[in-house]
Amino acid sequence: MQYFTDFKIHKKILSQLQSAYEKNKLAHAYLFYGSEGTGKEATALELAKLLNCEDEQSKPCNKCNVCNKINKLNHPDLKYIFPISSKWKPEDISKRNSNKSQNIFAPIDQEGVTNISIDKIRELKNETKYPPYESKQKVYIITEADKMNRESANSFLKLLEEPPDYLTLILITSSKNVLLDTIRSRCRSIYFPRLSNDESMEVVKNFHPIDDKILKVIKFSQGNLKKVFGSLEEDYETKQKLVLTFLRAAASGSAVKISDAVDDMFKKRDKNYLVEILNLIILWFQDVNHLNTLNEEKTVINFDFITELTNFSNAYSKSDFEQIINILEEAIQNIKRNIYAPLLLTVLALRIKESLIKK
Ligand SMILES: [Zn+2]
Repeated sequence: MQYFTDFKIHKKILSQLQSAYEKNKLAHAYLFYGSEGTGKEATALELAKLLNCEDEQSKPCNKCNVCNKINKLNHPDLKYIFPISSKWKPEDISKRNSNKSQNIFAPIDQEGVTNISIDKIRELKNETKYPPYESKQKVYIITEADKMNRESANSFLKLLEEPPDYLTLILITSSKNVLLDTIRSRCRSIYFPRLSNDESMEVVKNFHPIDDKILKVIKFSQGNLKKVFGSLEEDYETKQKLVLTFLRAAASGSAVKISDAVDDMFKKRDKNYLVEILNLIILWFQDVNHLNTLNEEKTVINFDFITELTNFSNAYSKSDFEQIINILEEAIQNIKRNIYAPLLLTVLALRIKESLIKK
């Protein structure tokens, strides 16, 4: 028997699951935890398929009826639970499901998403009374399990105490500590480490041909696949342009240029978007710092801007780039604290100007 031949990440975790499966020692409740975008949901689907795949040579085969239905999140014995927003209509929920069924690694718009409601948990519990409809094992995946409020969590606890034999529960979280102790202690915990660039590439190549732009997105996403797919969806070029315009304006010290650059950045009026742009500016300065101190081109992340980076690094080689990175990190904290962004960005530009020392 071959196992998980199509799944190229988290080989260690897979072999752990495989060996438990062969010994008939899989747990009835798992807690998959680790930082965002490490493929926890995708691995949960692999486990669901392993338990139910009809193929006798290779599990999961990704060809049989069961595997196909699970991959499409459309199997009657698979329940996929996630927090929703009270403003969502039924079509918003089906849209979320359809996005995830096309790419389980894709990020989800979190606007207004609050919690996993007690009603949803009650519905789940009610469902568990019946054995599987079509397959061997029912699998319930509860994603962002930390978003169960106290009421939902307590209700869920009853299910964890005595799950029927035909049920496997998989809780997923990137904030393990928010979960109730009583929930954590009843699950077998599996930690998901950050993905390497090679692992990220293995996943991404199933959706996009790998080119220089994608390689760069993978590098700056640092093992977070949600970030990778989010960046590929959103206009990556636009963001890079904002970064360069802001840096040029800051370096010029011109009030008009700074004011225009700040207006452009704040057009979306989106705090998270600003944080992303500032993180890209930090990457820019990290690159400049690498070039300046190590003179190593191969560690540079923004390799499509190597000329601009080299010019910048040469022009301001006497600057304390680490200090500038600190200033940027401070600005990110302040944006998260809801300080008025246009003012903050203007001050930031001036502080960067102050710290840039020409050769
Ligand atoms: Zn199969």
